[in-house]
Amino acid sequence: MSSDSNVPAHLAQAILTIDLAAIVSNWRLLRDRVAPAQCAAVVKANAYGAGIAPVARALADAGCKTFFVAHVHEALALRRVLPREEYVIYTLNGIAGGREAAIALRDSLLRPVIGTFEELALWRSLSGTSANPALPMALQFSTGMNRLGFAPREAGDVTQVLATVAGPQPDFVMSHFVSSEIPDDPMNPAQIAAFAEIRSHFPALAGSLANSSGIFLPPEPYCDLVRPGYALYGGNPTPGLPNPMQPVVQLQAPVLQVRHVQPGETAGYNGVWTAKRPSRLAVIGVGYADGFLRSAGGPSDPGFAMIGGTACPIAGRVSMDLLILDATDAPEKAVHAGARAELLGAAITIDDLAERAGTIGYEILTGLGARYHRRYVSASGTTE
Ligand SMILES: *Cc1c(COP(=O)(O)O)cnc(C)c1O
Repeated sequence: MSSDSNVPAHLAQAILTIDLAAIVSNWRLLRDRVAPAQCAAVVKANAYGAGIAPVARALADAGCKTFFVAHVHEALALRRVLPREEYVIYTLNGIAGGREAAIALRDSLLRPVIGTFEELALWRSLSGTSANPALPMALQFSTGMNRLGFAPREAGDVTQVLATVAGPQPDFVMSHFVSSEIPDDPMNPAQIAAFAEIRSHFPALAGSLANSSGIFLPPEPYCDLVRPGYALYGGNPTPGLPNPMQPVVQLQAPVLQVRHVQPGETAGYNGVWTAKRPSRLAVIGVGYADGFLRSAGGPSDPGFAMIGGTACPIAGRVSMDLLILDATDAPEKAVHAGARAELLGAAITIDDLAERAGTIGYEILTGLGARYHRRYVSASGTTE
Protein backbone atom coordinates (compact mmCIF):
# COMPACT_ATOMS: atom_id res chain seq x y z
CA MET A 1 0.00 0.00 0.00
CA SER A 2 1.47 3.36 -0.94
CA SER A 3 1.37 6.00 1.75
CA ASP A 4 -1.19 8.05 -0.20
CA SER A 5 -3.75 5.25 0.02
CA ASN A 6 -3.21 5.06 3.78
CA VAL A 7 -6.34 6.05 5.72
CA PRO A 8 -5.43 9.17 7.74
CA ALA A 9 -4.90 8.44 11.42
CA HIS A 10 -7.56 10.89 12.62
CA LEU A 11 -10.23 9.30 10.42
CA ALA A 12 -9.27 5.66 10.81
CA GLN A 13 -10.85 3.37 13.34
CA ALA A 14 -8.24 0.68 13.72
CA ILE A 15 -4.53 1.51 13.77
CA LEU A 16 -2.10 -1.08 12.45
CA THR A 17 1.39 -0.42 13.77
CA ILE A 18 4.22 -2.01 11.83
CA ASP A 19 7.60 -2.16 13.52
CA LEU A 20 10.14 -1.76 10.73
CA ALA A 21 13.02 -2.19 13.17
CA ALA A 22 11.61 -5.60 14.11
CA ILE A 23 11.37 -6.58 10.42
CA VAL A 24 14.99 -5.53 9.93
CA SER A 25 16.13 -7.40 13.01
CA ASN A 26 14.24 -10.50 11.86
CA TRP A 27 15.95 -10.24 8.48
CA ARG A 28 19.36 -9.85 10.15
CA LEU A 29 18.78 -12.91 12.33
CA LEU A 30 18.03 -15.00 9.24
CA ARG A 31 20.90 -13.44 7.27
CA ASP A 32 23.39 -14.30 10.03
CA ARG A 33 21.98 -17.79 10.37
CA VAL A 34 22.38 -18.68 6.68
CA ALA A 35 25.65 -16.85 5.92
CA PRO A 36 27.57 -17.20 3.65
CA ALA A 37 24.38 -17.95 1.72
CA GLN A 38 22.55 -14.77 0.80
CA CYS A 39 19.26 -13.79 2.44
CA ALA A 40 16.59 -12.31 0.16
CA ALA A 41 13.21 -10.92 1.24
CA VAL A 42 9.83 -12.03 -0.05
CA VAL A 43 7.59 -8.96 -0.21
CA LYS A 44 4.71 -10.26 -2.34
CA ALA A 45 1.11 -9.37 -1.48
CA ASN A 46 2.03 -5.89 -0.23
CA ALA A 47 4.76 -7.35 1.98
CA TYR A 48 2.27 -9.80 3.54
CA GLY A 49 -0.05 -6.88 4.35
CA ALA A 50 2.65 -4.81 6.07
CA GLY A 51 3.09 -2.36 3.17
CA ILE A 52 5.61 -3.01 0.42
CA ALA A 53 7.17 0.46 0.09
CA PRO A 54 8.22 1.11 3.71
CA VAL A 55 9.18 -2.53 4.25
CA ALA A 56 11.32 -2.75 1.12
CA ARG A 57 13.02 0.58 1.89
CA ALA A 58 13.86 -0.53 5.43
CA LEU A 59 15.25 -3.87 4.22
CA ALA A 60 17.25 -2.24 1.44
CA ASP A 61 18.74 0.19 3.96
CA ALA A 62 19.72 -2.82 6.07
CA GLY A 63 21.60 -4.33 3.13
CA CYS A 64 19.06 -6.66 1.52
CA LYS A 65 19.70 -6.79 -2.22
CA THR A 66 17.34 -9.45 -3.56
CA PHE A 67 13.55 -9.24 -3.41
CA PHE A 68 10.78 -11.54 -4.54
CA VAL A 69 7.22 -10.60 -5.42
CA ALA A 70 4.57 -12.74 -7.13
CA HIS A 71 3.03 -10.50 -9.79
CA VAL A 72 4.50 -8.35 -12.54
CA HIS A 73 2.67 -5.25 -11.29
CA GLU A 74 4.10 -5.81 -7.81
CA ALA A 75 7.57 -5.91 -9.32
CA LEU A 76 6.93 -2.67 -11.21
CA ALA A 77 5.72 -1.00 -8.00
CA LEU A 78 8.76 -2.26 -6.13
CA ARG A 79 11.09 -0.97 -8.85
CA ARG A 80 9.66 2.52 -8.27
CA VAL A 81 10.54 2.15 -4.58
CA LEU A 82 14.01 0.71 -5.30
CA PRO A 83 14.98 2.25 -8.65
CA ARG A 84 18.63 1.27 -8.58
CA GLU A 85 19.64 -1.78 -10.57
CA GLU A 86 21.68 -3.16 -7.67
CA TYR A 87 18.34 -4.19 -6.16
CA VAL A 88 17.42 -7.40 -7.89
CA ILE A 89 13.70 -8.15 -8.11
CA TYR A 90 12.16 -11.46 -9.20
CA THR A 91 8.55 -12.34 -9.98
CA LEU A 92 7.73 -15.76 -8.50
CA ASN A 93 4.74 -16.20 -10.81
CA GLY A 94 6.95 -15.68 -13.84
CA ILE A 95 5.63 -13.81 -16.85
CA ALA A 96 1.91 -14.33 -16.27
CA GLY A 97 0.38 -11.97 -18.83
CA GLY A 98 2.48 -12.87 -21.84
CA ARG A 99 4.51 -10.64 -24.13
CA GLU A 100 3.42 -7.24 -22.82
CA ALA A 101 4.12 -8.28 -19.26
CA ALA A 102 7.50 -9.60 -20.36
CA ILE A 103 8.34 -6.30 -22.03
CA ALA A 104 7.31 -4.42 -18.89
CA LEU A 105 9.65 -6.64 -16.85
CA ARG A 106 12.48 -6.19 -19.30
CA ASP A 107 12.13 -2.42 -19.48
CA SER A 108 12.29 -2.05 -15.70
CA LEU A 109 15.22 -4.47 -15.34
CA LEU A 110 13.10 -7.01 -13.47
CA ARG A 111 13.64 -10.75 -13.55
CA PRO A 112 11.03 -13.48 -14.00
CA VAL A 113 11.20 -16.86 -12.29
CA ILE A 114 10.58 -19.09 -15.27
CA GLY A 115 8.95 -22.51 -15.10
CA THR A 116 7.75 -23.40 -18.60
CA PHE A 117 9.38 -23.73 -22.02
CA GLU A 118 6.94 -21.14 -23.38
CA GLU A 119 8.03 -18.55 -20.84
CA LEU A 120 11.66 -19.42 -21.43
CA ALA A 121 11.29 -18.89 -25.19
CA LEU A 122 9.30 -15.69 -24.75
CA TRP A 123 11.81 -14.16 -22.34
CA ARG A 124 14.81 -15.11 -24.44
CA SER A 125 13.12 -13.79 -27.60
CA LEU A 126 13.12 -10.28 -26.11
CA SER A 127 16.86 -10.26 -25.89
CA GLY A 128 17.38 -9.20 -29.49
CA THR A 129 15.18 -6.13 -29.02
CA SER A 130 16.80 -5.03 -25.78
CA ALA A 131 19.41 -2.37 -25.21
CA ASN A 132 20.58 -4.58 -22.36
CA PRO A 133 20.31 -8.08 -23.83
CA ALA A 134 21.52 -10.09 -20.82
CA LEU A 135 17.95 -10.38 -19.45
CA PRO A 136 18.68 -12.44 -16.33
CA MET A 137 16.05 -14.84 -14.99
CA ALA A 138 15.70 -17.65 -12.51
CA LEU A 139 14.50 -21.15 -13.27
CA GLN A 140 11.98 -22.90 -11.07
CA PHE A 141 11.57 -26.67 -10.77
CA SER A 142 8.82 -28.46 -8.90
CA THR A 143 10.19 -31.04 -6.47
CA GLY A 144 6.80 -32.04 -5.05
CA MET A 145 4.61 -28.97 -4.91
CA ASN A 146 3.31 -29.44 -8.46
CA ARG A 147 2.43 -25.80 -8.56
CA LEU A 148 4.76 -23.74 -10.75
CA GLY A 149 8.00 -24.83 -12.37
CA PHE A 150 9.50 -27.35 -14.73
CA ALA A 151 9.17 -31.03 -13.84
CA PRO A 152 12.44 -32.61 -12.65
CA ARG A 153 12.53 -34.84 -15.74
CA GLU A 154 12.62 -31.69 -17.90
CA ALA A 155 15.97 -30.55 -16.50
CA GLY A 156 17.92 -32.16 -19.36
CA ASP A 157 15.72 -30.51 -22.00
CA VAL A 158 16.09 -27.13 -20.30
CA THR A 159 19.89 -27.38 -20.39
CA GLN A 160 19.62 -28.44 -24.03
CA VAL A 161 17.62 -25.32 -24.94
CA LEU A 162 19.98 -23.08 -23.00
CA ALA A 163 23.03 -24.61 -24.68
CA THR A 164 21.78 -24.77 -28.26
CA VAL A 165 19.58 -21.69 -28.68
CA ALA A 166 21.53 -18.47 -28.28
CA GLY A 167 20.04 -16.13 -25.69
CA PRO A 168 20.02 -14.99 -22.09
CA GLN A 169 21.06 -17.45 -19.40
CA PRO A 170 19.49 -17.98 -15.96
CA ASP A 171 21.33 -16.89 -12.84
CA PHE A 172 19.97 -19.46 -10.41
CA VAL A 173 17.72 -22.50 -10.03
CA MET A 174 15.07 -22.71 -7.36
CA SER A 175 12.40 -24.95 -5.88
CA HIS A 176 9.93 -24.65 -3.01
CA PHE A 177 9.22 -26.83 0.04
CA VAL A 178 5.86 -28.52 0.51
CA SER A 179 5.94 -28.95 4.30
CA SER A 180 9.02 -27.21 5.68
CA GLU A 181 7.12 -26.12 8.81
CA ILE A 182 6.86 -29.82 9.76
CA PRO A 183 10.53 -30.71 10.38
CA ASP A 184 10.09 -34.50 10.39
CA ASP A 185 7.94 -34.64 7.26
CA PRO A 186 9.66 -37.11 4.88
CA MET A 187 8.90 -34.74 2.01
CA ASN A 188 11.72 -32.46 3.22
CA PRO A 189 14.66 -34.83 2.65
CA ALA A 190 12.99 -36.11 -0.54
CA GLN A 191 12.81 -32.58 -1.92
CA ILE A 192 16.35 -31.74 -0.84
CA ALA A 193 17.58 -34.83 -2.73
CA ALA A 194 15.43 -34.09 -5.79
CA PHE A 195 16.72 -30.52 -5.86
CA ALA A 196 20.35 -31.67 -5.65
CA GLU A 197 19.73 -33.97 -8.61
CA ILE A 198 18.21 -31.09 -10.61
CA ARG A 199 21.11 -28.83 -9.73
CA SER A 200 23.57 -31.40 -11.06
CA HIS A 201 22.28 -30.46 -14.54
CA PHE A 202 23.25 -26.83 -13.89
CA PRO A 203 26.64 -27.05 -12.20
CA ALA A 204 27.44 -23.39 -12.86
CA LEU A 205 24.22 -22.00 -11.38
CA ALA A 206 23.43 -20.94 -7.83
CA GLY A 207 20.52 -22.60 -6.05
CA SER A 208 17.68 -21.51 -3.77
CA LEU A 209 15.31 -23.78 -1.88
CA ALA A 210 14.43 -22.53 1.61
CA ASN A 211 11.50 -20.35 2.64
CA SER A 212 11.16 -19.16 6.27
CA SER A 213 10.60 -22.58 7.81
CA GLY A 214 13.15 -24.18 5.48
CA ILE A 215 15.80 -22.00 7.13
CA PHE A 216 15.11 -23.84 10.41
CA LEU A 217 15.30 -27.38 9.03
CA PRO A 218 18.14 -29.39 10.54
CA PRO A 219 19.99 -30.19 7.29
CA GLU A 220 20.33 -26.42 6.68
CA PRO A 221 19.18 -26.46 3.04
CA TYR A 222 20.41 -22.92 2.50
CA CYS A 223 22.12 -23.44 -0.88
CA ASP A 224 23.20 -19.99 -2.12
CA LEU A 225 20.09 -17.92 -1.44
CA VAL A 226 17.16 -18.22 0.98
CA ARG A 227 13.71 -16.71 0.42
CA PRO A 228 12.00 -15.89 3.73
CA GLY A 229 8.68 -14.08 3.86
CA TYR A 230 6.53 -15.01 6.85
CA ALA A 231 9.32 -14.96 9.45
CA LEU A 232 10.28 -11.40 8.48
CA TYR A 233 6.81 -10.27 9.51
CA GLY A 234 6.98 -11.98 12.89
CA GLY A 235 5.30 -15.27 12.02
CA ASN A 236 6.65 -18.33 13.78
CA PRO A 237 8.66 -20.43 11.29
CA THR A 238 8.94 -23.23 13.88
CA PRO A 239 5.32 -24.00 14.88
CA GLY A 240 5.11 -25.69 18.28
CA LEU A 241 8.46 -24.25 19.38
CA PRO A 242 9.14 -20.78 20.80
CA ASN A 243 9.06 -18.14 18.08
CA PRO A 244 12.61 -16.99 17.28
CA MET A 245 11.28 -13.91 15.49
CA GLN A 246 10.27 -10.54 16.94
CA PRO A 247 6.62 -9.50 16.66
CA VAL A 248 6.05 -6.92 13.93
CA VAL A 249 2.37 -6.02 13.78
CA GLN A 250 0.12 -4.55 16.41
CA LEU A 251 -3.57 -3.94 15.73
CA GLN A 252 -5.50 -1.58 17.96
CA ALA A 253 -9.09 -0.48 17.53
CA PRO A 254 -11.36 1.81 19.49
CA VAL A 255 -14.27 0.83 21.70
CA LEU A 256 -17.21 2.53 19.95
CA GLN A 257 -19.86 1.77 22.55
CA VAL A 258 -20.20 -0.03 25.87
CA ARG A 259 -23.41 -1.82 26.72
CA HIS A 260 -24.74 -3.87 29.60
CA VAL A 261 -26.80 -7.01 29.08
CA GLN A 262 -28.69 -9.32 31.40
CA PRO A 263 -28.42 -13.13 31.58
CA GLY A 264 -30.23 -14.70 28.63
CA GLU A 265 -29.70 -11.77 26.26
CA THR A 266 -27.74 -12.53 23.08
CA ALA A 267 -25.20 -10.53 21.10
CA GLY A 268 -24.51 -10.36 17.36
CA TYR A 269 -25.91 -12.17 14.31
CA ASN A 270 -27.90 -15.34 14.93
CA GLY A 271 -27.58 -14.89 18.68
CA VAL A 272 -24.81 -17.46 18.99
CA TRP A 273 -23.51 -15.80 22.19
CA THR A 274 -25.77 -15.66 25.23
CA ALA A 275 -25.00 -13.80 28.46
CA LYS A 276 -24.68 -16.21 31.38
CA ARG A 277 -24.28 -13.39 33.90
CA PRO A 278 -24.82 -9.62 33.90
CA SER A 279 -22.24 -8.66 31.27
CA ARG A 280 -20.44 -5.63 29.95
CA LEU A 281 -19.95 -5.64 26.18
CA ALA A 282 -17.48 -3.48 24.28
CA VAL A 283 -18.24 -2.90 20.62
CA ILE A 284 -15.08 -2.55 18.49
CA GLY A 285 -14.66 -0.93 15.08
CA VAL A 286 -13.10 -3.88 13.25
CA GLY A 287 -14.84 -6.58 11.23
CA TYR A 288 -14.33 -9.21 8.60
CA ALA A 289 -14.23 -6.56 5.86
CA ASP A 290 -10.96 -5.53 7.54
CA GLY A 291 -9.64 -9.05 7.26
CA PHE A 292 -10.53 -9.91 10.83
CA LEU A 293 -11.86 -13.35 10.04
CA ARG A 294 -15.45 -14.16 10.88
CA SER A 295 -14.33 -17.58 12.05
CA ALA A 296 -12.38 -15.90 14.89
CA GLY A 297 -15.73 -15.35 16.61
CA GLY A 298 -16.22 -18.88 17.82
CA PRO A 299 -18.72 -19.99 19.12
CA SER A 300 -16.21 -22.36 20.72
CA ASP A 301 -12.69 -21.15 21.62
CA PRO A 302 -13.19 -17.66 20.19
CA GLY A 303 -10.44 -15.14 19.64
CA PHE A 304 -9.96 -12.39 22.17
CA ALA A 305 -8.64 -8.85 22.48
CA MET A 306 -6.91 -7.08 25.32
CA ILE A 307 -8.55 -4.16 27.11
CA GLY A 308 -6.79 -2.69 30.13
CA GLY A 309 -4.54 -5.74 30.33
CA THR A 310 -7.46 -8.21 30.44
CA ALA A 311 -8.18 -10.78 27.74
CA CYS A 312 -11.75 -10.17 26.53
CA PRO A 313 -13.25 -12.96 24.41
CA ILE A 314 -15.12 -12.18 21.20
CA ALA A 315 -18.84 -12.46 21.93
CA GLY A 316 -20.72 -14.01 19.03
CA ARG A 317 -20.12 -13.59 15.34
CA VAL A 318 -17.72 -11.04 13.92
CA SER A 319 -19.74 -8.65 11.70
CA MET A 320 -18.52 -6.88 8.57
CA ASP A 321 -17.42 -3.68 10.30
CA LEU A 322 -17.71 -4.49 13.98
CA LEU A 323 -17.09 -7.10 16.59
CA ILE A 324 -18.28 -7.40 20.16
CA LEU A 325 -16.05 -8.23 23.12
CA ASP A 326 -17.18 -9.62 26.43
CA ALA A 327 -15.36 -7.08 28.62
CA THR A 328 -17.07 -8.09 31.87
CA ASP A 329 -13.80 -9.10 33.52
CA ALA A 330 -11.82 -6.05 32.38
CA PRO A 331 -11.36 -3.23 34.92
CA GLU A 332 -14.47 -1.06 34.75
CA LYS A 333 -12.43 2.14 34.32
CA ALA A 334 -10.66 0.69 31.27
CA VAL A 335 -13.84 -0.04 29.32
CA HIS A 336 -15.28 3.14 27.86
CA ALA A 337 -16.00 4.58 24.43
CA GLY A 338 -12.67 5.67 22.94
CA ALA A 339 -10.64 3.13 24.91
CA ARG A 340 -8.33 1.02 22.76
CA ALA A 341 -8.56 -2.71 22.41
CA GLU A 342 -5.51 -4.60 21.19
CA LEU A 343 -6.47 -7.29 18.68
CA LEU A 344 -2.94 -8.31 17.64
CA GLY A 345 0.28 -7.58 19.47
CA ALA A 346 2.48 -8.81 22.28
CA ALA A 347 -0.33 -10.75 23.99
CA ILE A 348 -2.06 -11.99 20.82
CA THR A 349 0.24 -13.25 18.10
CA ILE A 350 -0.73 -13.78 14.49
CA ASP A 351 -0.15 -17.51 14.97
CA ASP A 352 -2.48 -17.48 18.00
CA LEU A 353 -5.27 -15.66 16.28
CA ALA A 354 -4.87 -17.87 13.21
CA GLU A 355 -5.25 -21.02 15.25
CA ARG A 356 -8.46 -19.75 16.86
CA ALA A 357 -9.79 -18.74 13.45
CA GLY A 358 -8.95 -22.14 11.94
CA THR A 359 -6.34 -20.84 9.52
CA ILE A 360 -2.64 -19.96 9.31
CA GLY A 361 -0.92 -16.70 10.26
CA TYR A 362 -0.11 -16.08 6.59
CA GLU A 363 -3.80 -15.58 5.91
CA ILE A 364 -4.17 -13.27 8.92
CA LEU A 365 -1.28 -11.11 7.70
CA THR A 366 -2.17 -10.95 4.03
CA GLY A 367 -5.77 -10.14 4.94
CA LEU A 368 -4.85 -7.11 7.06
CA GLY A 369 -7.36 -4.58 5.87
CA ALA A 370 -7.29 -1.52 3.66
CA ARG A 371 -9.32 0.52 6.19
CA TYR A 372 -6.61 0.47 8.83
CA HIS A 373 -4.30 3.40 9.29
CA ARG A 374 -0.82 1.91 8.84
CA ARG A 375 1.66 3.51 11.18
CA TYR A 376 5.34 2.69 10.73
CA VAL A 377 7.69 2.80 13.66
CA SER A 378 11.35 2.00 13.99
CA ALA A 379 14.02 2.33 16.63
CA SER A 380 14.38 6.01 15.69
CA GLY A 381 10.67 6.67 16.28
CA THR A 382 7.66 6.98 14.01
CA THR A 383 8.61 7.13 10.35
CA GLU A 384 5.09 7.17 8.82
C1 LIG B 1 5.81 -17.12 -0.72
C2 LIG B 1 7.01 -17.86 -1.12
C3 LIG B 1 8.16 -17.84 -0.33
C4 LIG B 1 8.17 -17.26 1.08
O1 LIG B 1 7.61 -18.24 1.92
P1 LIG B 1 7.48 -18.03 3.52
O2 LIG B 1 6.96 -19.33 3.99
O3 LIG B 1 6.54 -16.89 3.70
O4 LIG B 1 8.84 -17.72 4.04
C5 LIG B 1 9.31 -18.42 -0.83
N1 LIG B 1 9.32 -19.02 -2.04
C6 LIG B 1 8.21 -19.10 -2.82
C7 LIG B 1 8.29 -19.80 -4.13
C8 LIG B 1 7.02 -18.54 -2.38
O5 LIG B 1 5.92 -18.64 -3.14
